[in-house]
Amino acid sequence: MNCKDFLIWLQDRTIHNQPEDPEVLDHIHTCETCNRLYCMDNCLEACIQKSFSLQKLPHGLAQKINQHIDHAFYSRHQSLDQPAGLPRQDLPVKK
Ligand SMILES: [Zn+2]
Repeated sequence: MNCKDFLIWLQDRTIHNQPEDPEVLDHIHTCETCNRLYCMDNCLEACIQKSFSLQKLPHGLAQKINQHIDHAFYSRHQSLDQPAGLPRQDLPVKK
């Protein structure tokens, strides 16, 4: 494998965390430039995966957001019946 083949492989790979092709491993162990590209690509992929990981919302935030959405919806569609039991008096009214 040469550097050009490596770049094509790097751009085309779609499955990460899989054992790499022995030719690829051999090349990145002998070519410093491609080794750096390989490391940067792996780091970038890890950062992207981390940024899309699930985060826990603060307690009650999802409920508050839903209440605000419901409130905004029913404020704009006043002819519709509002579901009973939703606390509306503490929500701000946009005028
Ligand atoms: Zn190379």
